[in-house]
Parts: sequence; structure tokens; C-alpha cells
Amino acid sequence: MISYKLSSHQQQVKDVVHWFAENEMRPISLEADKMGRVPDDWLNKINQLGIQLNTSSFGEDKKSSQKSGKKAKSERQANRLAVIATEELGWGDPAIALTLPGPGLGGPPVQSSGTPEQKERFLSIFSKDEPPRWGAYALTEPEAGSDVSGILTTAQKTTGGYILNGQKIFITNGARASWVVVFATIDRSLGRAGHRAFVVEKGTPGFSCTRLAKKMGIRASETAELLLEDCFVPEENLLGGESYYENRGSGPSGFRVAMKTFDNTRPIVAAMAIGIARAAFEYTLDLVRKEYPKHGRLYHLASEKLARAELEIEAARLLTWEAAWKADIGQSNAKEAAMCKAHSGKIALEVCAGCLELLGPAGLDGQIVEKLYRDAKIFDIFEGTNQVQHLITARHLYEPHGVRV
Ligand SMILES: Cc1cc2nc3c(=O)[nH]c(=O)nc-3n(C[C@H](O)[C@H](O)[C@H](O)COP(=O)(O)OP(=O)(O)OC[C@H]3O[C@@H](n4cnc5c(N)ncnc54)[C@H](O)[C@@H]3O)c2cc1C
Repeated sequence: MISYKLSSHQQQVKDVVHWFAENEMRPISLEADKMGRVPDDWLNKINQLGIQLNTSSFGEDKKSSQKSGKKAKSERQANRLAVIATEELGWGDPAIALTLPGPGLGGPPVQSSGTPEQKERFLSIFSKDEPPRWGAYALTEPEAGSDVSGILTTAQKTTGGYILNGQKIFITNGARASWVVVFATIDRSLGRAGHRAFVVEKGTPGFSCTRLAKKMGIRASETAELLLEDCFVPEENLLGGESYYENRGSGPSGFRVAMKTFDNTRPIVAAMAIGIARAAFEYTLDLVRKEYPKHGRLYHLASEKLARAELEIEAARLLTWEAAWKADIGQSNAKEAAMCKAHSGKIALEVCAGCLELLGPAGLDGQIVEKLYRDAKIFDIFEGTNQVQHLITARHLYEPHGVRV
């Protein structure tokens, strides 16, 4: 069984990140939302800490890292630490959290599928001694969002590398990134088996940002459209190298890289949504405690709404921790990752909407809950929509019985 009590190391991480969220993120939150960007001077100042947070490099629990072999492996803490920390960042400001320097969503595929040389080349650039840098992850295309098996970006083999052509949309930190993990197909007729992942570096001829999206929420987070026009990418930038794909015969290849990423990142995205819900809830609870006792019957109505919010937040957190725990102990967590992502995205919106109702018009007047409500919406869209998470869950209900959907 697992313990619900945070270890002293987990509690320490939570406290440090909460301090950062409250004292560094919140003071610039509304202004960054209004400007549609996180100020550069803030990013320069925060670079050192930002890299640590963005890469979840809090290190392992001291006790477990001292142990060796199988036991130490079974006590990995990285995924649990990541969700604990990310909930606090979401509480602080989700758009700023997504803009913290570091490899971002591009990190997991490089980490899980890159060769040792690629990991060194692409991940070592995120250092506290360097200026702020970002990585990004480009899978989505105009004709391939939920169903990524339909990507149209092509990678044509040529001497010493590949020529990439295609368009990517909605790419977080896509314009500011030093490199982007780009998914492309070497042969559309092969379906998923034809997919490959490339690390495309900023400044590569034929690789450009064509537009930055204007969004309803997480406005301070950069969302880019990227174009690849006869873009030559050297073969050493093919993630995992040629042998990575050859070893897997005709099975899913670049597609496997993409999906592996989601199983690790969905609990983290869920945790950020929980942080949003908790921020709206705490703000509203504080006001209700002060104001509502004067209003008799209304107080009971508010209590019911708040109790429901508390329940939803707690339930979402437990689902998310379970998904992270399974990843830590090396068990498949695809179903739990899908369920926690779907549930947390849904309740973040519901809790924020409920809080806005309780606050009345005052909540809409440039206040944090109004912003959180806008920010929450994206959490049931990116990293796979809620409907898609339910499809993944359903697949896990059918497949053990030999039914494929
Ligand atoms: C702010 C933002 C940041 C993002 N960041 C990134 C990023 O960094 N990298 C990246 O690669 N992508 C990113 N995305 C893209 C995001 O992952 C996609 O938007 C998402 O996967 C949905 O794809 P789509 O927009 O094409 O919607 P569609 O796939 O067209 O879906 C439209 C609707 O149809 C539903 N639907 C689709 N298929 C099914 C089905 N089989 N059954 C039932 N319903 C279905 C969906 O649930 C949805 O409601 C980002 C998006 C946004 C908005």
C-alpha cells in the first residue's frame, strides 16, 4: 500500500515551491496575463530556480537514493515530487509555470528515447550558468490533434539527414525554444510505424515561427505555429538514432515516443489543474468565511458548493498521486494517467465556475478567480482532450478481454 502522508522531503519540496508561487509568481500574475507574456527580467532573475522546477530535478528522496539496486528503484520519487510541486505552480499561475525556463514538454521524449549523446547535447544547455532557455514538443498539426496518427509533416531521407516539410500548431514555447522535438512521417502509408521524432534546433534554415496564438486563458504562455519548409535536419538529430527504430521492426516507433511522453506528463498537467482549482477555492473560501455568516440561508448554499469543491479537489489529487506513484514504481499507468487528466481538467473548470458564482460580479472585475476560470479551460484540451482520455480509459476496460477499440 501507499502512504497518504507526505515524507519530510516531499513536504519540503511542497513548501519551497509554494513559497515561490506565492512570493514570485502571484505578484506578477495578473499583469503578465494582461500583457500576454512573462516579463524577460523576471525570467532572467528566476532562471536558476525555474530550470530546477521545470525539469522536476528535485532529486530523489535521500533515504531511497542511498539504497541500491532493485529496492531503490522501487522507491523512486521523481513523478510524485513532480506532481506535488506542479500543483503549487498551478496554484501560483499556470501560464507562468508553463513559461519557466527548461526543456518543458520536450524533455521527456529526449530523456526517455534519446541516445546518451543526444541527452548530453540537448539537455545540458539548461544550466543555471547560462541565460534562460526552453525546449518544446511539436506533435499537433491542423489536421492531426487528437488523432496524432494522422500527422502529415514529412521527413524525407537524404544524404546525412532528413528534409522536413509541414506545419505544427499550438506549440507551447515553440518560438522561444532552443530546440523543438518535431514528429514527422517517413512514409504515410506505414501509419504509426512511419513516425519519427527529430530535434530541430532554432535557427535551422527552413524552420520558422509564423504566428503566436491569442488565447482565452493562459495568455502569458507562448503558443506558436511553426513551419518546416525543406528544412534539413542532420541524422544525429533523429531521436534515438536509426537503430532505435530498426530494432522495433514494424511496430509503432515515433508514435511510441509520443505516447510514452503523455503517460509521464498527463499526471503533471492534472496536478496543475488541481492547483488552479485549489487557488480559486481557497480565495473564495476565505471570502465566504468572512462575509457569508451575515447572510443566513445563503451561507448554507455556499457551504454545499464549497464542500463539493473540496471533495472534487481531494479526489482529483488522489487519482493523480496514484498515476504518479505507478510511474515511480515502474508500473504501466496509462489508464490512471488518462483518468486523472480527464477528472482534474473537468473539476478545475467546475470549481472555478462555482467560485465565480459565489463571488458574484466582484469576481469578474479583474480578479484572480476570473483569470483562473479562463486558465482552467485549456486543461481539458491539451495533452489530449477529455473525450480522448475517456477513450483511452475505455480501451483499458476492453483490451484485457480481447476486445480492441
Ligand atoms: C494552449 C495550447 C497549448 C498546446 N500545446 C501543445 C504543445 O506544446 N505541443 C503539441 O504538440 N500540441 C499542443 N497543443 C495541442 C493540443 O494537444 C490539441 O489541441 C489537442 O490535442 C486537441 O487537438 P485538436 O485541437 O486538433 O482538436 P480535435 O482533435 O480536432 O478535437 C475537437 C473535438 O473533437 C473531440 N474528438 C476528437 N476525436 C474524438 C474521438 N475519437 N471521439 C470523441 N471525441 C473526439 C475532441 O475531444 C474535441 O472536443 C496545445 C493546445 C493548446 C490550445
